[in-house]
Amino acid sequence: MNIRPDDFVLEIGSGHNPKARSDVLCDKFIGDDEQRGGAIVTDRPMVEADGQFLPFADRAFDYVICSHVLEHVKDPAQFIAELERVACRGYIETPSEIGERIYGWHYHNWVVNLVDGCLMLRKNEKNSQFGQLFHRLAVTDKHWKRFHITHHNLFLVQYEWEEKINYKILLEHESALDLECPDTLDRLTASDNHVQNEWLLLLKSAVPRGIVSRAKSFLAQLASQNLLSKVAKGKSRQTKTLQEILVCPQCKGQITWEAHSLHCKMCEQTYRIVDGIPRFTF
Ligand SMILES: [Zn+2]
Ligand SMILES: [Zn+2]
Repeated sequence: MNIRPDDFVLEIGSGHNPKARSDVLCDKFIGDDEQRGGAIVTDRPMVEADGQFLPFADRAFDYVICSHVLEHVKDPAQFIAELERVACRGYIETPSEIGERIYGWHYHNWVVNLVDGCLMLRKNEKNSQFGQLFHRLAVTDKHWKRFHITHHNLFLVQYEWEEKINYKILLEHESALDLECPDTLDRLTASDNHVQNEWLLLLKSAVPRGIVSRAKSFLAQLASQNLLSKVAKGKSRQTKTLQEILVCPQCKGQITWEAHSLHCKMCEQTYRIVDGIPRFTF
């Protein structure tokens, strides 16, 4: 991710594993851990909101991270428009069509491919070909686990954007993935994709898991205290408070802060603040 040292960064769908570099977190399901791998992390400024109705002012952020969210949304056009509205640049990651065909997640609404720098979205038919087989192998079989890590570009779409998100919504029967096409096969099987991942795998196998997770939480702590960029650049990263950047998610009007709620004068909506977290879901 091409995040600059002084970028102000939003992460959508941060869940149990927010990135160290994220300044503000946004998640739709704070009270429900069912679709994630652990308990929600709320260690920095955070809001509960739907990505299709973001409660942030236009261009409040320099960069927005959105990992494994796009495939879940109801209306991708509206969601993408919101990303472009609140940030200048960003990163989107989703499972690829190959990942979706092999694993199959019944709660994904969209199948995503990246073709020539364009995100191609198609409604997920949710007819999982292999049931739970590969989910099981990912846990029990070290060879499959290894293949998944060394070939993660097969299973993932990773897309970085600036100003505009290039995307297309396809008809249900259309697929952007032509596995008969030699160019597609060359791209998917290019061996230089794997070199970096071999190193990652080696590193992962050499360093005990406890140390990795402790190092991660230490880095997150450093990042949240702004120390990382101070060390790196000799100046503090820009920060804004939630008060400065929040707007009404529905009408984008100004909101006023009260002790336990937020109020929009323009559309008369009131939003709760629970445990210090503004709740914009309804
Ligand atoms: Zn997902
Ligand atoms: Zn409003």
